[in-house]
Amino acid sequence: MQLTGKTAVVTGGSRGIGRAVAVTLAEAGADVAIIYAGNTAAAEETTKMIEEKGVKALAIQCDVSDEKAVATMMKTVKKELGRVDILVNNAGITRDGLLMIMKEEDWQAVLDTNLNGSFHCTKAAARLMMKQRCGSIINITSVVGETGNAGQANYAAAKAGLIGFTKSVAKELASRNVRCNAIAPGCIATDMTAVLGDEAVANMVKNIPLGRVAQPEEVAKAVLFLASDDASYITGQVLNVDGGMVM
Ligand code: NAP
Repeated sequence: MQLTGKTAVVTGGSRGIGRAVAVTLAEAGADVAIIYAGNTAAAEETTKMIEEKGVKALAIQCDVSDEKAVATMMKTVKKELGRVDILVNNAGITRDGLLMIMKEEDWQAVLDTNLNGSFHCTKAAARLMMKQRCGSIINITSVVGETGNAGQANYAAAKAGLIGFTKSVAKELASRNVRCNAIAPGCIATDMTAVLGDEAVANMVKNIPLGRVAQPEEVAKAVLFLASDDASYITGQVLNVDGGMVM
């Protein structure tokens, strides 16, 4: 799965799944731009890891929920790296809470980053991909978008929305040879799951047929496949990387 000569944009590329995706795509030969919210130290570390693979790296601080900032960011990527072949909409946050005590701002923040952010980035990248007559967009959703989860009404709504968005974009852009797919991770060892605590994670593992959490690199390998020409006839699909949690 070679990506030599291609350019990828990975949102939320400074840490966790996004970092693993950025480094994996770089290893396959792509130049990679990572987009992050505020953790400059982590972004610099990822940049170094990408450059060590012998490709170009670019780190841009940009809030994906800000449409204008995203348009500017995508122009910068085009100017610095020449093109955009792969977009991975991975930036995401959680603001968990039961419905009856969920604050409007927590609902809105999760929708703004996880769903609206993907809309903004996809729109800006699709403009370039349609002209190029090729591209691969990969949206990182979640098993929670398929099953729902008590305490995560906002997150589940955003992630379920992302699945509908993926299928609609796939249908709209197919005639321009731009593919759009989603990956639904289960429980992955990152900062996002670390805050849940060992007991909550152990309880989750009880419902995972493969009996363990995954490493971010295991999601990154699936992203690499969907990004590559090896997946040239796959669009509008949701690929679960969840150890069998949802089947
Ligand atoms: P993470 O470790 O918490 O990292 C989140 C990343 O998103 C960071 O790079 C962060 O940047 C960036 N980010 C957050 N808000 C942003 C914004 N408004 N604009 C730009 N970047 C923003 O998360 P993760 O666990 O790797 O999760 C990555 C994706 O996978 C998310 O969409 C998540 O919902 C999804 N997912 C995760 C799991 C899991 O078990 N971990 C399971 C299913 C789905 P900074 O570093 O600057 O803060």
